[in-house]
Amino acid sequence: MTASSASNSTPGTLYVVATPIGNLDDMSARALKILSDVALIAAEDTRHSLRLMQHFGLNTPLAACHEHNERDEGSRFIQRLLAGDDVALISDAGTPLISDPGYHLVRQARAAGVQVVPVPGPCALIAALSAAGLPSDRFIFEGFLPAKTAGRCARLEQVREEPRTLIFYEAPHRILECLQDMEKVFGGERPALLARELTKTFETLKGLPLSELRAFVEADSNQQRGECVVLVAGWTAPLSDEAVSGEVMRVLDLLLAEMPLKRAAAVAAEITGVRKNLLYQVALEKQKA
Ligand code: SAM
Repeated sequence: MTASSASNSTPGTLYVVATPIGNLDDMSARALKILSDVALIAAEDTRHSLRLMQHFGLNTPLAACHEHNERDEGSRFIQRLLAGDDVALISDAGTPLISDPGYHLVRQARAAGVQVVPVPGPCALIAALSAAGLPSDRFIFEGFLPAKTAGRCARLEQVREEPRTLIFYEAPHRILECLQDMEKVFGGERPALLARELTKTFETLKGLPLSELRAFVEADSNQQRGECVVLVAGWTAPLSDEAVSGEVMRVLDLLLAEMPLKRAAAVAAEITGVRKNLLYQVALEKQKA
């Protein structure tokens, strides 16, 4: 790694460095080393990052790289990289580019043949997902929803039947409206989780069906403060007669008229070869209906 070396013909490296989302102890040793070694740090908000730098005794020069100047200023950082200087990109909190600036700089750097190296660390969506107890093998990140109800509901409609776990960022002053709209679009039964103030003093992870989560947030204004991530379980097709064929359903119906539900499901499974658990669920649904 080079410090400031404008005469060097080998391009420097752009390090994309994750920083804490609350708890400063989450700063990695590698991130600290890189932030201290690079020639320049491209920061979303230099005043904000200065506090982080001071906390860790770092005095690497900072230059602003935020969403308003990222496209134009990007070339300034590219020039430094092409001249051989290593540059680190950081945002105010968490992983740059994740609902944060950096996309244009990373794109420009890669297009210019500069090596881009991720230095992973905190990220609110991953922290929330890791502790949510919702399916984590497949998920989608929707970032921030539109601020107004009409736009928000339209976006939620687009993912209403999405089977993967859904993850959203939301501002505290909109969290209640957001949960109200989610309840409206996804239904109050859908499992969800609010992850608030992660890694901080008032960290709260509350997992409830949407209607109960909305009521919980409505009843306590403290839940409408701080930073938050909302996770919603993916859509599951309701178990109904459609889950099994008409012929299987006919067998099940006949047996249900003659014997208790559990036994009927077991015998129907024997006769048709369909899974006993599925037939049991279908029979239950039918009984409820
Ligand atoms: N780049 C960041 C990351 O890696 O998570 C996200 C930046 S985005 C501008 C800020 C949003 O991230 C907040 O509005 C909130 O939704 C979420 N967030 C950030 N820190 C959080 C925390 N400590 N607890 C819960 N959510 C957080």
